[in-house]
Amino acid sequence: MKYCKYHPTEAATWHCTHCDCQVCDTCTQESERGEDRYCCKCGATLESLGSAYTAEPFWERLSETFRYPLTVPVMTLIIVLSAISGVLFFVPIVGAVAGLISAGILTKYSFQCLEETAAGNMSPPDLSEAFSGGIVIIFKMIGLIILITAGGIGSYHYLGAGITGLLGALVVLSIPAFLINFALTDRVLASFAPPNILRIVSAVGLPYGILIGLLLLMSSSVGLLSYMVFSGFEWASMILQSVISNFYMVVIFHLLGYVVFQYQEKLGFYARAQTGDAPIYRSEVERSRAKISVLIKEGDYEGVNRLYKKTLDRHGQDLSLNDEYFEFLTATGNKEDLLEFADDYMAYKLHKGHQAQLKRIYNQTRSVVPDFKPTSHEVRFTLAQDYASFGDYPAVIRLVNGMHQDCSDNQLLIKAYSLMHEALQALEKEEMASRCKKLLNRLEAQAV
Ligand SMILES: [Zn+2]
Ligand SMILES: [Zn+2]
Repeated sequence: MKYCKYHPTEAATWHCTHCDCQVCDTCTQESERGEDRYCCKCGATLESLGSAYTAEPFWERLSETFRYPLTVPVMTLIIVLSAISGVLFFVPIVGAVAGLISAGILTKYSFQCLEETAAGNMSPPDLSEAFSGGIVIIFKMIGLIILITAGGIGSYHYLGAGITGLLGALVVLSIPAFLINFALTDRVLASFAPPNILRIVSAVGLPYGILIGLLLLMSSSVGLLSYMVFSGFEWASMILQSVISNFYMVVIFHLLGYVVFQYQEKLGFYARAQTGDAPIYRSEVERSRAKISVLIKEGDYEGVNRLYKKTLDRHGQDLSLNDEYFEFLTATGNKEDLLEFADDYMAYKLHKGHQAQLKRIYNQTRSVVPDFKPTSHEVRFTLAQDYASFGDYPAVIRLVNGMHQDCSDNQLLIKAYSLMHEALQALEKEEMASRCKKLLNRLEAQAV
């Protein structure tokens, strides 16, 4: 199991050969609509790890597995094939041919289910390709059964019943691995070769036993179910048995395909689950945010700063992005950029109706740039008002002082200097208060 370098509890889905690290979906960059993913740190194209570390184990999704064939086309196929072979069963020759053809169609389709599932497609494939090539598979299987039977007879003759029984059990245990090999390679004898069987068994490990158990359970339940429902009606019972076993066949092949999907890394290939939902594309801001989070963890603050600037150039109206950049600048103590940013940021916050936050922003900025004074007169007046209400008169004076030099809004100036006048009086600075009063009188005269 491999985890994301930046999220230690998140399974990895991508690999960067350049940085030699694994990351999750969040910690990547994608192009606008492209399938490619890029490394946040170095920009190299990432290799997909498919669902190797994110696939749910097969024994935890049995109810989904059994629901797999429950679609109208697949159930129609299963029932029609069972009915045809059931009805024609007692007709000589025709019955045998019909049975063979329907078995061929179902086998072909089941192998297709296996391959599609292994590739990450969790819904049944189209029926169209089920109708060709099935007979060839059936003959290959029959050939293999004849070979195994011949081997069994030979073994019984030369080695005795005990060893033959043991070999027979091994053959039964090999069936799931054989089917997987055959679906992936299309070669009968190679698929049955012990090294190839062992490769699958060792990749799956102990859960291979669960697989065998499930297969035995399903095959033994076919006859039992049918017996319980239809004991006596031979013909109806046969069709029902056929429906159940065909249903199970699709389920089993889907299950085997899922085993390949789940153990994809050990089997040497990568596939990603296709959910059928439209892919979720992240907005440019979301992508930037993901990259910023990686760069912060990498300690690349220069890179973070550049990316914030670039993203804010295009998405300056994104309030939380502004908030995040401000936090970043104060946290990193970047005086130069903070001085430039804080001014516009405070005006923007006031414009957005967030005046309650101005004081905190002002203080936070001053902790990095002690002589900072906002240039926006409205921001300064709003702050001064806030400070006045708390009785912090030196702050009021600091903010209002000098405002008349470059502000042309007379009404605002009158309000601001009235505040300053009160502050000076409260601090008992009589001389300054009277000079302030003179300025006020002049402003009021101008206003009339
Ligand atoms: Zn990289
Ligand atoms: Zn991550």
